[in-house]
Amino acid sequence: MAFTIKCLDCGHTAPYFPTSTNCPRCNSQWREAEYDYETFAKTLPLQLPNRPFDLWRYRELLPIRNPNPTLTLGEGGTPLVQAVNLGMMLGTPNLFIKDERQGPTGSFKDRQAAVTIAALKEAGITEMVAASTGNVAIAYSAYASRAGIKLWAFVTSLVPAVKMREIALYGSQVVKVTGSYDQVKQVAAEFARQRSLYQDMGARTITSIEAMKTIAYEIAEQLTAFQPITTNNGKPSVWRTPDWYVQAISGGMGPLGIYKGFRELKQMGLIDRIPSIAVVQADGCAPMVNSFKQGLETAIPVTTPKTHIETLATGDPGRSYTLLRERVLETKGAFESVSDEEAFRAMHVLAKMEGISAEPAAAVAFAGLFKLIRAGVIKPTDTIVVNCTGHTMPAEEFVLGTNWTRDVEFPTKQTATPEEGLLSALNQVAPNRFPRVAIVDDTAEARRLIRRILQSQGDFKIFEATNGQEGLELIQRELPDLIILDLMMPEMDGFAVMDALKANQETANIPVIVATAKELTADEKARLGSQIQSLMQKGDFLNDEFLDEVKALIK
Ligand SMILES: *Cc1c(COP(=O)(O)O)cnc(C)c1O
Ligand SMILES: [Zn+2]
Repeated sequence: MAFTIKCLDCGHTAPYFPTSTNCPRCNSQWREAEYDYETFAKTLPLQLPNRPFDLWRYRELLPIRNPNPTLTLGEGGTPLVQAVNLGMMLGTPNLFIKDERQGPTGSFKDRQAAVTIAALKEAGITEMVAASTGNVAIAYSAYASRAGIKLWAFVTSLVPAVKMREIALYGSQVVKVTGSYDQVKQVAAEFARQRSLYQDMGARTITSIEAMKTIAYEIAEQLTAFQPITTNNGKPSVWRTPDWYVQAISGGMGPLGIYKGFRELKQMGLIDRIPSIAVVQADGCAPMVNSFKQGLETAIPVTTPKTHIETLATGDPGRSYTLLRERVLETKGAFESVSDEEAFRAMHVLAKMEGISAEPAAAVAFAGLFKLIRAGVIKPTDTIVVNCTGHTMPAEEFVLGTNWTRDVEFPTKQTATPEEGLLSALNQVAPNRFPRVAIVDDTAEARRLIRRILQSQGDFKIFEATNGQEGLELIQRELPDLIILDLMMPEMDGFAVMDALKANQETANIPVIVATAKELTADEKARLGSQIQSLMQKGDFLNDEFLDEVKALIK
């Protein structure tokens, strides 16, 4: 056989059986699959170009004997998208999002479910138990339905009702437990023991770790397509790796698997280094982050998680923490935590700037990214991949707050003409005159970002000019309520535009926000004078702060 199972504690290797969960020599449950890397290092790069871009393109490196084409739902092969607006805003141009929302049930648990259910089907299992914070149960349920496996899904009563309904829709039995997720796991384990049913072992499930590692393989392949490698000192071409892999964690299975994926690629000589791994938890349930910051090798559990983000509510990570800590230390990575509010804000930013609607758990990774960049841990030039682990669910209404709709009442009263009635009704939607803003900047990305911030969170009429001369003409013609001005532009720069504005009575009092990529000297600031109401350093502001400035300046 092309792979064996090696015990992480005693090193014993044994053949693989999906239902045997312990090392035959020392009884440890912490084991991992090992493959014939030397052979696959030669054969895989030749085979890949002819295979579809899904999880099974790496089948030789998965612990399934015969991939079962009747089970697949098209898992894996999710897009890696460049986050241009967000990258601009954060000052990190090489920012990428691995869009795991695009799995069959909308989260990266689809990989885990696809491989694990395939293995269990191979082993003849027809009934099983899993404890879940929501997404595992949804993904397992979808694949279990195809495999003819009955799933008992144990969830906490805090899992959003839509998620529970989706589990039930796939034909699984939902068992709602009032208690913490760690207590749910205990109840599920006892149920499985009493009935002698197979029970999912979380991060100790070999197939789950193996499934997650395909994210690393895909990232390396996709990043290479974005940033092609031209030379490699005559050696066979290697794949790219990011400097950072960032993910929100609950039990930590994802990064453990993804680390293994990168490590295997390195073993096969397909990449030359493993990225730094940054993991992010919610403040209200951050046993790993807190334990790491205290320098502990074993995690202190959180007994009562205090976060709305139920997906991430693993209070007792057990040994996963110890393993993850080693990986994070080895890769010079980071442990970070964020508040629910920071995550919700990041969720809005991601949707408004990049068109990606993620679930709050996924947004935790982005909020963590913002923090790590601001703290200087992640550098502006670094290539970063953030795992957008799951899609938002319609039920999570508290994220949006109130006032996000504008209501129109269809006119029923008689007016002179029907159009007139409709027109006055539509006036409630938005006023006739919007504040007028001129953006003068020579880079298209910067103009797009500023336009996007303005249009996503308020009503503005926006004018754009691509250089100083054009900008000046535009301002003199339109007399906007506010000017957003770049300084470094060819020919007529921002300083010259300011001088011309000041020299003209009509434009001398229009407030100006200078958005600049460079740190200004005291001389330069003096030269800009008092008309500058605000200075925004590009790559160092968030959309909300920017918008607050704009709103404060427009009367
Ligand atoms: C499961 C899950 C996580 C956490 O995954 P782990 O790597 O197992 O800690 C994060 N986000 C979403 C959307 C999830 O479903
Ligand atoms: Zn052992």
